[in-house]
Amino acid sequence: MNAARVDFSSWDLQEHIASAVQANGWSEPTEIQREAIPLARQGLDVVGQARTGSGKTGAFGIPILERCSPKGTPQAIVLCPTRELAVQVAEEMESLQGGKGLSIQTVYGGTDLEKQAKRLNQGADIVVGTPGRVIDMTKRGHLDLGGINLFCLDEADRMLDMGFFPDVLWIFEQTPNREQTLMFSATFPQEVLDAADEFMSESVHVMSEDMEVEIPEIEQFAIHVGRANKLWALGRIICTMGDDDQMLVFSNTKRMVEILSERLGKFRISAIGLHGDLPQGKRERIIESFKEGRESIVVATDVAARGLDVDGITHVVNYDLPDDTESYVHRIGRTGRMGRKGHAWSFVTREDQPLIEKISSTWNLSIPVVGAPPLPDGVDRDPIGRRDDWDEVSDAFGMVTLRLSVGKSDSSKLELAEWIAKQARVADIVIGEISQGDDETEVEIHVEKVAYVIDVIKAREFNGRSLTPEIVDA
Ligand code: ADP
Ligand code: MG
Repeated sequence: MNAARVDFSSWDLQEHIASAVQANGWSEPTEIQREAIPLARQGLDVVGQARTGSGKTGAFGIPILERCSPKGTPQAIVLCPTRELAVQVAEEMESLQGGKGLSIQTVYGGTDLEKQAKRLNQGADIVVGTPGRVIDMTKRGHLDLGGINLFCLDEADRMLDMGFFPDVLWIFEQTPNREQTLMFSATFPQEVLDAADEFMSESVHVMSEDMEVEIPEIEQFAIHVGRANKLWALGRIICTMGDDDQMLVFSNTKRMVEILSERLGKFRISAIGLHGDLPQGKRERIIESFKEGRESIVVATDVAARGLDVDGITHVVNYDLPDDTESYVHRIGRTGRMGRKGHAWSFVTREDQPLIEKISSTWNLSIPVVGAPPLPDGVDRDPIGRRDDWDEVSDAFGMVTLRLSVGKSDSSKLELAEWIAKQARVADIVIGEISQGDDETEVEIHVEKVAYVIDVIKAREFNGRSLTPEIVDA
C-alpha cells in the first residue's frame, strides 16, 4: 500500500490549484489523497474510507475543483450532514482553488433563504450544502441540478442512513447528467456500502484492509463513574488541561448540553453549549471562536461529532456514551487530527458497561478503565466536589460491599455481624453476605443504611481496633 512518496507536483495539477496547495503549506498528499485523487481525476466513482483527520476533504475537493470551470452554473454538489460542516468544506475548497475563480456556494438551513437564493441566482459553480435546504432551493427554482456532473457525499455513511437517505436520493435523481460520484467517510458499515451501490455502478473502493477502522493517535480511557459523579470526573480531567488545550464534551441531548454548560459555569469553568436548537448564526460563531482558540471548552450534541476540524482539540470527553458504535469513532476523531496527539475519555456507568464493550469489540480497541485523573500538583481541591453515589456501588439486590480490616483470626463472621447490628442498631436483614480472608472481611450492607453504618464503624472500635471501612466497587 505504501507506494513511493508522491509529491503534489508530480501530478501536474492545474496551476491555480497547485499553487493553492503550496500556499496552504501542504508538502505532500496524505495517504487517502495519494490513493483517491488519481482515481477521481480519471473520472472514476470512488468510495474512500480513511481515518478521521486524514485529509478526506482535499481528497474529493481537489478533483472536483479541477473538473469545474467558472461558468456560473452548478457542475458539482457536495452534501454534508451538518451546516457547520458544509461551511468548513466550502472554506477548505475555497482555499484549495486559489485563483481559479470558481463560485463555491453554501446552501444550508437556518439562514436567510432570500440571501442564499440571491447568491445562487448570481451564479454558482460548486454547491456545498445540507440536503434539506438543497431540496428547498431546487424546488423553488433557485438551484438547477440539471448541469451537475459530479455528485459527492462527505460523511457518506451518515448521508446514506435512514435519516438522510430519502433526501439524498431525491437530490441524486435530479442530476441526470451526473458523470461521477464520490463518497467519503471514516466509517462504512456494510449495509451502507450496499446502499451506496444504488448510486454507483462500478465504483473503486479505497479502504483500509477489512474495512477496519484505524484510529488515529488518540489515547482512550474509560472512567467507571455513576451519573452523580460525572461532573466531578469532568472537573478532574479539566484540571489536567494545559493552557492551550481545548476540550469537546459530548452529551446525548440538547437539554443536557444546556444544563452541563450552565453547571460548569457555576463552578467557574467557562464552557459553551452547542446544539441544533441554537440559532444558526450563534452556532457558527461558537465554532469560529472554538477554531480560533478563544473558547476552550465546548459541550455539544452529535451535531459536532462529524467532520469538524478544530486542530486545537486535545481532549474529547464522552460525558454520555453515544448510542451507536460509529459515533464513538467520529466523536473521538475530533482530536488527534493530522497525526497530532489526543486524549479521549468516556464516562461509563454501570448500565453503559455492555455498550462500551460493544464499542471496543466492534473496532478492536482497548479502552482501559481507569480512575479519574488525580489532582495535579499544586491543586489541593477538586474543582467540582464528589458526591455519594450509592446506587453506583450497590448490586442488583441493593447491597453495598464494605471491606473491613479484620481477618478470620480476629473475629468470626457472626461476632462481627452482631457487633455491627448492635453498634448501628440496624436489623439483621440490613447485613448480607459476609466473606472472610486472612486479614480482611467483606460485609454487604443494604444501600439505605450503608452511609450510616460506615459512619458508625468509623467512629467505634472493634475489640480495640479501628476497622477502616472501604467500599468495594460493585
Ligand atoms: P478528514 O475529513 O479526513 O477528517 P480533513 O479533510 O478535515 O480530514 O483534514 C484535516 C486537516 O488536515 C485539515 O485542517 C486540512 O486542512 C489538513 N490537511 C489536509 N490535507 C493535508 C495535506 N496533504 N498536508 C497537510 N495538511 C493537510
Ligand atoms: Mg471530513
